[in-house]
Parts: sequence; C-alpha cells; structure tokens
Amino acid sequence: MIYLDNAGTTKMFEECLQVHKEFSCQNFYNPSAATKVASELSKKLSETERFFLERLGAKVGNVLFTGCATESNNMAIKGSLRTGNYEYVFSCGEHPSVFNVAKRLELDGKIVHFVPLQPDGRLNIDDLESVLNEKTRLISIIHVNNETGAINDLKAISKLKDKLCPRAVLHVDGVQAFMKIPFSLRETSVDLYSFSAHKIHGPKGVAGLYVKNKDSLKELLQGGGQQYGLRSGTENVSGIMQFRKAVEVIDVKENLQHVEALKHLFNDGLRQDGIKILDFNGSPYIECLRFEGVKGETMLHALEQNGVIVGLGSACSSKKAGNRILEEIGFSKDEIISTVRVSFNAYQSEEEIKRAASIIVETYKEIKAKVS
Ligand code: PLP
Repeated sequence: MIYLDNAGTTKMFEECLQVHKEFSCQNFYNPSAATKVASELSKKLSETERFFLERLGAKVGNVLFTGCATESNNMAIKGSLRTGNYEYVFSCGEHPSVFNVAKRLELDGKIVHFVPLQPDGRLNIDDLESVLNEKTRLISIIHVNNETGAINDLKAISKLKDKLCPRAVLHVDGVQAFMKIPFSLRETSVDLYSFSAHKIHGPKGVAGLYVKNKDSLKELLQGGGQQYGLRSGTENVSGIMQFRKAVEVIDVKENLQHVEALKHLFNDGLRQDGIKILDFNGSPYIECLRFEGVKGETMLHALEQNGVIVGLGSACSSKKAGNRILEEIGFSKDEIISTVRVSFNAYQSEEEIKRAASIIVETYKEIKAKVS
C-alpha cells in the first residue's frame, strides 16, 4: 500500500518504540513524586522542554505538553480570552480545532473577525490589516494550511501586530509546519505556537504548545498544578520522550529537498487529460488533485483497492460534505466534489511515488471509461 495521506497522520518511527519501552516499563515513575528517581525524570522533562524551545527557535518562553494539537489550539484561544470590549481575529483557512472555537466565540457574543483567503490559499494581509486595532485581544492564524499547503507569512503578520495591536496575543497553529518547513520563532512576534507529534512520525496522544509568557495564559484544567499550573494532570512522559525522539530523527532541510523532488516526479507522472493538479506553491508535503467528471470519494475508494491511500482533506472534516477551505478560495461545489488531497512523507522512495502516480492515472482512466 502506498500511503499518501501523511497530512492526516504518519507512520510512527520504529525508534520511538524503544523509547516507549524505556519510559513505560523501566523509567515509568510519576515525575511529580518526591523520590529521587522521580526528580531525575522531572529534570529530564525540563531538559526536553528546552530541547523543543530550541527546535522552535524560541529565545524565551516555555513548552506545555498536551494530548493533541486540538487541545493546544483550544488552550491557546480559550486561555487568552478576557472579559471586556475585546475583538478576536482568525483566518478563514483555520483547521476545525481553531475555526469551530472561533464560531463558538461568535455565538457567545464576542466580536470575531474572519480574514478571507486569496486564490493562492494564504490569508489576505490587507484584509488582516483592516481589522486589527487596539481592541484586538487575539489573532490566531494557521502556519501551513492542512488542505492546500499554503504558507502564511509569519513575519508579515508579526509586523502588522506590532504596529497595530502590540498588546494582542498572536497564536499560530503550526501542526503542518513544525519539522517540515524551516522557520524560527525568534524572527516573529508569535506568543503561542501549536504542534503535534503524530504528524511527524511520533506517537498519537501527545502535542505541544509554545507559550512565550506563561503568566498571560489561563489554565483550562484545574488539578495538581503540573506544567506551571497551566496543564494539570500527570505528564505523558513516554509520549513526550517519543515526540522528542521523532524530532531528533528528522532533518528538516534534507527532508524538504527530498519531498520537493518527490512532488515533481509525482506531478510529472500525472500528465493526463482530466487530472488537474491544484498547486498552491506552498509546502511540497501537500497538494490537491481534481479529477474531471469523477467524484473524489469514488477515486479515494478505487485507489485504496488499487493500493494507494489518499485523503479527502482534513480527517476531522472529511465525513462532512464539501471543503470549507477550497470553497473559501473560490472553487465551485462541483470542482470541490471531484478533489482529493495528496500528502507525502520524506521517507518515501522515488519509485514508490512514480508507481503511485501511474496507479492514479490508470484508475482514473478505468473509472472514466465506465462512466462515459
Ligand atoms: N491543526 C492542523 C493544521 C491540523 O492539520 C490538525 C490535524 O489534522 C490539527 C490541528 C489537529 O491535530 P491533532 O490531531 O493533534 O489534534
């Protein structure tokens, strides 16, 4: 089976299994206990927090470990809410774990602005500028879009925030960017940054939230006061250490080059009437394909039978009709219905990817012959 749904989730590195065993069966202690072994473990977690800060390129701040990026996103937004005459700003390209929180704020009577997307899938920076003001409390923007791969310009967004609402909190959902495209938070004014392990060959059930100033965030869970009182609950030590291992294995620049080469080969292999590549010139890890006259869902099932797994967009929204992001960019319902999402990983071979392209072309031709 050739797996091309890596934006949905990735296969875990074998290296993480060894780490899981070590921190579940041997060094399995509760890091908050009073014992020496526990305090050693607690030190290891602190050191791992510094490791992540360094990988994010953050000069100051902390990293909280959560159960998933959905939790990180919820924590960032809900933990930044304040009573008063404040305004909240989101892009129309947000993942449901941000977008649905924003919609809930709107229902609760808060002033919420949604910044439209351009045809290239990025948020329109002039529209962002027009809604920012001294009442802006929070700006929450996706870094790399999970449907299109479009990359928002964090430096330009930071500049606007610094100019128009320096006291606002800037949250970025970095799930599809972290360890995939090179960036450094040091060059931005980002206050909160979400990232997830299972998108980068780590385990499911662990994610992170970078917090520049922990005193400005309110906790969602009350309990034993772990993680600076901001995320009570015994830390998922094994998950966190496996997450670290996955990060250690990855070479961002080398992987990016390889995936760029894979994408070129793949697209070359797809030259076929009726197949259109929707390339948003963003992250090479993600692209969309449109199959004229055939539903995306039909293609997805036929391809699975023929040995290729693709996606229909965000796993969280694929059971719902349509695709909010592509609709926002300006695609018609008919165009959207015949689209699938393809997403690569850096450990796939050129042979595998060429084979996938040829299976996709053959499968499309077969179905097209049947329907016409
Ligand atoms: N944000 C983005 C951009 C995503 O792609 C995803 C997962 O698809 C999430 C958030 C949610 O991540 P998790 O599955 O860790 O909750």
